[in-house]
Amino acid sequence: MAIEFKSADVQRAHEWIAQARHIVIITHMAPDGDAMGSALGLWNWLKGLPVTGDGLRNVNVLVPNAFPKFYQWMPGAEEITVYETNANRCNELITNADLFICTDFNDPKRIGPIGEKLVAATAPKILIDHHLNPTDFADIVFSFPEACSASEIVYRFIRVTGYRLSVSGATCIYTGLMTDTGNFSFNSTSCDLYEIIAELIRAGIKKDEIYNAVYNQYSTDRVRLTGYALYRKMRIYPEYHLSLITLSADELDQYHYQPGDTEGLVNMPLQISDVYYSVYMREERPKPGTPKPRIRISFRSQGDRPVNIWASEVFNGGGHMNASGGELFGSLNQAVQLFEKSFPKYIKAKG
Ligand code: 5GP
Ligand code: MN
Repeated sequence: MAIEFKSADVQRAHEWIAQARHIVIITHMAPDGDAMGSALGLWNWLKGLPVTGDGLRNVNVLVPNAFPKFYQWMPGAEEITVYETNANRCNELITNADLFICTDFNDPKRIGPIGEKLVAATAPKILIDHHLNPTDFADIVFSFPEACSASEIVYRFIRVTGYRLSVSGATCIYTGLMTDTGNFSFNSTSCDLYEIIAELIRAGIKKDEIYNAVYNQYSTDRVRLTGYALYRKMRIYPEYHLSLITLSADELDQYHYQPGDTEGLVNMPLQISDVYYSVYMREERPKPGTPKPRIRISFRSQGDRPVNIWASEVFNGGGHMNASGGELFGSLNQAVQLFEKSFPKYIKAKG
């Protein structure tokens, strides 16, 4: 299906952007490369856009919690406001906002504590996203599940208006395209994608340097944690072509876990020739006010084997057909029991 914007929506969105004086861009919890890329791509573009009227345009990116170190180099990352560590500033920005632009999430639940504040705010909201079935919280919705990433939609939104991206903006967009396709190994067969990449290269991005900045800057602890998880913690259920990795809070502490340190881990068991489903569970210690630990669960699959229904019906989550997430408040053991009880219903044996 072609990605086509309704021109009336684009025009209205641009009028709002032109008039706005305090734009707040929000992206999802545990920001990944596409969250960062789509939000900062927009931020860089808006910062460079000529201002009319009284010459005032503030643009800020808000995220609910910390983003990984290996995205700190991204142009504009140093100016992001993180709710978890700077709630006052975040609240102030939300109160003063006269336009919200949301990227890479389809439900206010995905932005944690900011969600209720966003819903309560009266300023207009634009959503740019590639997840299925967004809930009804935005006034203009650019939702294209067929896009490889939210960054792709941001790029197209900017281009459709005839504007050009700076090299900083283009760098952010490329980071989103690269990370949400596993460096162009899934969701990445459309010719249009490679035409976009060609345009980004013409805009001046250093493609190989971006790869290096994201994928070759890990800590020793992170690489050792990956080794430990695969060697000691990966369980295979051969008749179901299924793999499970669990990491407890204690195990993560041993490797001085930092946000993002296990990003990509869930994809690794799929390297095994007859593993088509992979699940990874990570235990977070209880936070004040939540007596139980939170188990964060990632699901991945290959081909025509959906995991999003499983994630949604059993683990209060959802996502794409081949990449979903969910959570459980309880012990890792409880999560594993629920997983073992439920997988025969949701995945095909010998499929
Ligand atoms: P990850 O395993 O990388 O955290 O999440 C994979 C994908 O699943 C994300 O890109 C997002 O689309 C989706 N996802 C993750 N967690 C949730 C969740 O709690 N609810 C929903 N609806 N989708 C999620
Ligand atoms: Mn995305």
